[in-house]
Amino acid sequence: MAQAAQPPSDQPPVVTCRDVTRQYIRGSKSKFANQPRPTVTALDSVSVDICPGEFVGIAGPSGSGKSTLLHLLAGLDTPTDGDVTLAGTSTIGLSEQRRARLRLEHVGIVFQHFYLLPSISARANVALPLVEYGIGRSTRREKATALLDQVGLEDRTTHKPGELSGGEQQRVAIARALVTDPEVLIADEPTGELDTETGEQIINALSASSSDRAVVVASHDERVLERTDRVIRLHDGRLVSDG
Ligand code: ADP
Repeated sequence: MAQAAQPPSDQPPVVTCRDVTRQYIRGSKSKFANQPRPTVTALDSVSVDICPGEFVGIAGPSGSGKSTLLHLLAGLDTPTDGDVTLAGTSTIGLSEQRRARLRLEHVGIVFQHFYLLPSISARANVALPLVEYGIGRSTRREKATALLDQVGLEDRTTHKPGELSGGEQQRVAIARALVTDPEVLIADEPTGELDTETGEQIINALSASSSDRAVVVASHDERVLERTDRVIRLHDGRLVSDG
């Protein structure tokens, strides 16, 4: 039976989803103008709260809506129906530019495929989001170095992504996501491409970062899910359990 999450702490949630539905239109436009295009309901009336300090897993079979929910929680997308509030601001009706600003100020995002810039060093990759903030070069370097230290890459700061292993690249991506000190860190299948031991390092880095913020991880990986405080389970776009 679907149920909304109970906030585990006294602090107000950093992200809330209220009765969120997300539909996508499938396929390209028909040449017959009146023919309706099929829609797919990726999420169906899902309500969740994410509170500061929580380490939350999102689980479910492929196609159950995990990435869709994660993108909505991160403010990368907006729902077809319902409301998503990020750090007290509703994402509904915001311009793309204001939503990008909201993300920059409150959210760090880690993707399965890292998305690091190949031509610059690990440290420069980590420092990149601070350029948008207008922070000076020496402070950027200082913060990026401290973050790389935190994820155990103090001896890799000047290496380029191509000179690093998959697990090291993912830790650079986590450091980059944390450099703006976001209230919520969102990670989509962060161990998907990594071997068991390397995956463990990534889980440790994510778990450690949840002491200061909410961390939400979509994953198929039971090793990740068993480390989280709470697991939101989806099936066919519906919330089937949360706890
Ligand atoms: P999961 O992350 O659990 O694999 P997704 O959120 O990616 O699930 O997808 C949920 C459903 O929405 C699937 O049926 C998927 O095919 C569909 N879907 C996701 N993104 C799109 C899109 N951009 N256009 C059309 N359908 C989509």
